[in-house]
Amino acid sequence: MTQDFDHDEDAREGFQHFVSVCQRCRACDLAANRQNVVVWRGNIKAPLMIIGEGPGAEEDEQGIPFVGRSGQLLDQLLTAWEIREDDFHICNIVKCRPPGNRAPKPEEAEKCRPLLTRQFNLVRPRVILLMGGTAYKYFTHDDTGITKVRGRWIQKAGYWILPTFHPAYVLRDPRRKNDLWQDIAAVRRKLSELKLLPELIT
Ligand code: SF4
Repeated sequence: MTQDFDHDEDAREGFQHFVSVCQRCRACDLAANRQNVVVWRGNIKAPLMIIGEGPGAEEDEQGIPFVGRSGQLLDQLLTAWEIREDDFHICNIVKCRPPGNRAPKPEEAEKCRPLLTRQFNLVRPRVILLMGGTAYKYFTHDDTGITKVRGRWIQKAGYWILPTFHPAYVLRDPRRKNDLWQDIAAVRRKLSELKLLPELIT
């Protein structure tokens, strides 16, 4: 019990140190206009890591990822599939807001990548949900369009990676909502299969 407590305490301290490194980072041009460095939401250790593109205006203002309309849609879908805040860790390819909500440039994603790698190693997920074409491209280094790869599992080095649509895209084109719903269902089933979450009782 004491050992678990010490371990949790170490993990929290390690993560807090990582967050402070991120907050000081000025490695790319996105540092110039940010209000906040947007690092994470959810649990510091989680079986599921959800990765989006970059912070939008509300995320930049609050310093928390996926708190705008896209985040609300995502939360609704996660809740519907009984994936709780304790079960996931949400972050983005870049931690500072690209101006005008444009996609991050390759050099910005590249500069931010060591932080994402460090975050990944702290969170230690087994399942990764990549939301949107930009997250897919920068995470996998593959330029294939998201419509071609969405919903298809990639198994790599013991990780299960699922590309899907970004909720912001689904809000613009509600016909895609069912695809995102199906992909989150697939993530939930995978977490159960891997015995990382209990089976869903339907
Ligand atoms: S986007 Fe990433 S690399 Fe660029 S300044 Fe922010 S934290 Fe640093």
